Amino acid sequence: MLHLKKKFLNILTKNYKFELNKNIYHEMKKYKYYKKNTKYYGHRREKEEKKIIFHPKRKMKNHIKNSALRQNFKKPNKLVNKDIVINETMTIFELSNKMSKKSSEVIQKMIQLGVETTSDNIIDQETAQLIAEEMGHKVLLKHENELETSVMNARNIVNSKCIKKNRPPVVTIMGHVDHGKTTLLDYIRSSNVAMSEYGGITQHIGAYNVKIKSGTITFLDTPGHAAFTSMRARGAQITDIVVLVVAGDDGVKPQTIEAICHAQAANVPILVVINKIDKSQSNPEIVKKELMKYNILPEEWGGQNIFVNVSAKTGVGINNLLDAILLQAELLELTAMYSGMASGVVIESCLDKSRGSIATVLVQEGILKKGDVVLCGLEYGKIRAIRDAFGCELQSSGPSIPVQILGLSGIPISGDIFTVVKNEKQARAISIYKKTKCKEMKFSNIKKINLENMFENLNNKKKTTLNIILKSDVQGSLEAIVNAIHQIKHENIAIKIISSSVGNITETDISLSLASQAIIIAFNVQSNVLAKRMIEIEKIDVRYYSVIYNLIDDLNLSMIGLLSPKYKKEMFGSAEIRNIFKAPKSVVIAGCMVIHGIIKRHNHIHLVRNNRVVYKGELESLRRFKQDAKEVQSGKECGISIKNYNDMHVGDIIESFETIELKQ
Ligand code: GDP
Ligand code: MG
Repeated sequence: MLHLKKKFLNILTKNYKFELNKNIYHEMKKYKYYKKNTKYYGHRREKEEKKIIFHPKRKMKNHIKNSALRQNFKKPNKLVNKDIVINETMTIFELSNKMSKKSSEVIQKMIQLGVETTSDNIIDQETAQLIAEEMGHKVLLKHENELETSVMNARNIVNSKCIKKNRPPVVTIMGHVDHGKTTLLDYIRSSNVAMSEYGGITQHIGAYNVKIKSGTITFLDTPGHAAFTSMRARGAQITDIVVLVVAGDDGVKPQTIEAICHAQAANVPILVVINKIDKSQSNPEIVKKELMKYNILPEEWGGQNIFVNVSAKTGVGINNLLDAILLQAELLELTAMYSGMASGVVIESCLDKSRGSIATVLVQEGILKKGDVVLCGLEYGKIRAIRDAFGCELQSSGPSIPVQILGLSGIPISGDIFTVVKNEKQARAISIYKKTKCKEMKFSNIKKINLENMFENLNNKKKTTLNIILKSDVQGSLEAIVNAIHQIKHENIAIKIISSSVGNITETDISLSLASQAIIIAFNVQSNVLAKRMIEIEKIDVRYYSVIYNLIDDLNLSMIGLLSPKYKKEMFGSAEIRNIFKAPKSVVIAGCMVIHGIIKRHNHIHLVRNNRVVYKGELESLRRFKQDAKEVQSGKECGISIKNYNDMHVGDIIESFETIELKQ
């Protein structure tokens, strides 16, 4: 009886599936026709086309050729034409020296191209080449690590013979908190065919495959937007499709918008999931209308986004969602090599006490095999073991399949690229070279200018955007600060708060800042340990405040600073005046308690009364128990007198600043 029932069910589902597939096929045909006739080529192809048509260098050259700028590129004087050797990176000063030009001339040329710069800015090879060629010189490119070049070339020759085949899509789920991302992922995970095969629970490895009958989908399983953003910040893009979860009863919320911005900036198609449709308050139509504002439109309204209504709780619509993902993937025509030497991206990594470095990687091209030698970020190693999300040992793994690998020399960072190379000795040499190079880079806090941001500046020459990530201790001050920032107006600079939230600065904030080149403003909050390390390494502009007025004041300053050499005032500490003493020679000494950070003897100070700065100046003296002190730490008492200023009151706050010149 049971047997018959099963058989019957099978027939039913098969028919249902057939119907579904037929529909999808039909839809796809329509879509493909539509694509052909409207020149909509799908995001991926559109991107490739753009690359071909608007290759940055060619565009730049055309731009220079065609525009009035051409006059500024005077015909170079033939006498000084030289063969210029251009390193992988060099400063403008070095470049101008090599061309026997004044650096001011080169800077002027850069400014004409829309980039404000100084002579100690580092530019990349392409930019330097462009400038040198435009100034009439012949260019010789120099690769600093010839070994790496030759190893990579050998690899490319092997891989150029491999044929590409279709591969599974890699999907990231994003959306506002509590809109049901985790519930949705859990539901999808439980519908995984492979799971019943192994009869086990998947381990958290940062990504997993879901095999359904019509195909395979890889989900990145890292919470929030952290993974997506940190990968993008490192230049790796592994997500093919973003699934945007919006709760039908809650609509578009700040993190929804943030997710849209991230996905659109990365040029990844967005598939909208309207969740919680089991709830009576749910209204998908309202959500659709709200999303219109952000250029997300369903196909029936002439847009390009697929919309699916689901309930992650009851499972209604989840199959449609999976089918829709596969449909979208098919439109993207995702392919990869299923042979040759593997390469891919690190998703997560950790150090295991007994097994050493464990990294979850996603193979993007080729087949990764046990025993392969890999270069991975700064690390290298011979792969000792490959395991899947069920903990099963594998001998090899192909594209779009996330696996854990053991055997790396250290812990890579998520977003690091890995490549299989032939020779372990060479891999080791390259790894050592990269590590020393990285150390050198850490010492120079100069932001690289490259062709990309050159173009950004060219295109939006009129308006620059100052991106801000705002962190605060309580919601109330957050709102006050947001309002105050919105009051700031500048004709050439638009301020954009890309994220504002309550709590300490975390790694997520840092990676968001890196990806969007944003400064971080921290109001009465600190950064957590990991974030602190990242701030140091990545040299992120983080500003700490405890008075809103100062924050706005500084922001105004930095907006001026964006246009001219930039100085940053960093607050190191603040002290509250608890007592006033009159000393001989009409000197007034304030008995203070350092309430935050450090007060340093030689720093600039602001005297703040009722949230307003009443005096800016320097310290005359800083004493602790009648002894002169260089600095006084938080929680300690001290005596302070201010140079040329005596009118201090009990309750005033003395804030101590250091002015740092920032090299842009
Ligand atoms: P996340 O923050 O986006 O990961 O959201 P969660 O998955 O943690 O879900 C937040 C809350 O919404 C939980 O209490 C879920 O049980 C609930 N929830 C998620 N999906 C649905 C749904 O489809 N219907 C209903 N009624 N509740 C849901
Ligand atoms: Mg969650």
